[in-house]
Amino acid sequence: MDTDVVISGAGPTGLLLGTELALAGVRVRILERQKKRHDQSRALTLHPRSVEILDLRGIADRFLALGHTVPSWHFAGLSRRLDFSALDTRHGYTLFLEQARTERLLEERARELGIEISYGHEVVSLTQDGDGVDVTGVGPDGDFALRAAYLVGCDGGRSPVRESAGIGFPGSDGTMSAMLGDFAVTDKEAIAAAGQVSLLIVPLTSGLTRFVLTDPKRMRVPATEPVTFEEFREALVDVAGTSFGIAEPHWLSRFGNATRLAETYRAGRVFLAGDAAHIHFPAAGQGLNTGLQDAMNLGWKLAADLNGWAPPGLLDTYHGERFPVGELVTDNTQVQTLLLELTLVPDYQRPVTALRELLDSLLEIPEVNTRLAGLVSALATSYPSPGADPLVGTRMPDLSLASADRRVSELMHSGKFGYVDFTGDGAAQVADGWEDRVTVATGGDRSWAEDVSEVLVRPDGHIAWVRRENDPPDAAVREARISAWAGTPERAAMKVRPREAAL
Ligand SMILES: Cc1cc2nc3c(=O)[nH]c(=O)nc-3n(C[C@H](O)[C@H](O)[C@H](O)COP(=O)(O)OP(=O)(O)OC[C@H]3O[C@@H](n4cnc5c(N)ncnc54)[C@H](O)[C@@H]3O)c2cc1C
Repeated sequence: MDTDVVISGAGPTGLLLGTELALAGVRVRILERQKKRHDQSRALTLHPRSVEILDLRGIADRFLALGHTVPSWHFAGLSRRLDFSALDTRHGYTLFLEQARTERLLEERARELGIEISYGHEVVSLTQDGDGVDVTGVGPDGDFALRAAYLVGCDGGRSPVRESAGIGFPGSDGTMSAMLGDFAVTDKEAIAAAGQVSLLIVPLTSGLTRFVLTDPKRMRVPATEPVTFEEFREALVDVAGTSFGIAEPHWLSRFGNATRLAETYRAGRVFLAGDAAHIHFPAAGQGLNTGLQDAMNLGWKLAADLNGWAPPGLLDTYHGERFPVGELVTDNTQVQTLLLELTLVPDYQRPVTALRELLDSLLEIPEVNTRLAGLVSALATSYPSPGADPLVGTRMPDLSLASADRRVSELMHSGKFGYVDFTGDGAAQVADGWEDRVTVATGGDRSWAEDVSEVLVRPDGHIAWVRRENDPPDAAVREARISAWAGTPERAAMKVRPREAAL
């Protein structure tokens, strides 16, 4: 093998995945078609769960230092905002940070971990057998060929890896489009007075101003058609009655609501993550965030396999867990787009205004607001765990721990499992058996679930197992439950074979 894992695409998903693999000691090579990193940013936001996962690796502060936070977010442009500050997290806000900066920070981290990122290398085709994947492509010095144990397509919505692997991408073509423009010069007073549902104006940290505009007269223009400065200016006047004094465009683009979801996230030794697996209208800014969370889910599982301790079936849980999340995201973005589209059709103005007012009034109910905020922030993401304790599959809150005077997030910096023993029953057994894979802590804040005695947290921050106080401590059960996720313990004496433990 030339390397353990080849990642096609150095966007946010590929970069985070690379760092997760490198942290676990896996050899990884990232191939990127572009000759160098560009400075255009489609995405502008990181949501609470994304900041949490960066915090799990001790790098959230780098991102927070460059962006700015706002305690709320929106759904379908409704007037009533989603209150992220009410969510049960230390990161209850939207972090405004341009995608180009997010990527630069992830690349910096990747380089710190020694990852080789090969720019100007385009993946063209693949073939796979039982032991590995042969990847061919075109690089600066001509054709290249690489063999790896696994290949991950993080190569965006048109993913050549997805196509070469023969993975279907069912869904719908775009029916509407919107335009974006980043401008150096604008009329600040006119911006302060703007208030149209179909126009979003965001100051960028670069000093530019981003306009995102859905113009009823132009929303049927195919997303593939380029935008001109003159068209953008005219559209602003049509929608808002002013051109906001825009001048010096740095970037103009048109994007649409084509919505597709890969039929499988895994085909043998080939995996898909990020936009390669799901595309949709950027309603409530979820694409990049979802890609980061795909990467976080897949990284430790691939590493477990390559490091030789993955329990049977672990790699398949990637599709099992992330495909339903892709369905939720593609569904909720379509709902939002539908509402936006109807808002712009003059015939529907009265009923749609009434519908928006009704939804706004529902969002005033704290439980409703929190439910939707949990969906969009991805804090409510819970992986299916039939028959298990209801906490299993949910994300572990960032509690403070007693033993080492630290938090759960700090326990997870190494990328291993975290195990917290609140009552002192299992720490010695876990430390003895899974020392290489599990970081052990004892005692801590139990206000989140007072009757939990032990908890095993997966490297991606989701709960793998809990024991409640009314279940007496049992070394064999503990061994079975931990082995089901973290594999066979290293010590010689095996009380339960991992195959007997259900995931
Ligand atoms: C207008 C707009 C606004 C958005 N706003 C937000 C937002 O606020 N929040 C949010 O979460 N999301 C947002 N998104 C979505 C977000 O930009 C994407 O979801 C995100 O870029 C996906 O990241 P990725 O790494 O999966 O793919 P990409 O960013 O598309 O990266 C894929 C990489 O693969 C490379 N590549 C392609 N083919 C090959 C090949 N053959 N070989 C090697 N490399 C290859 C590409 O050059 C690219 O660098 C927005 C999207 C748009 C259009």
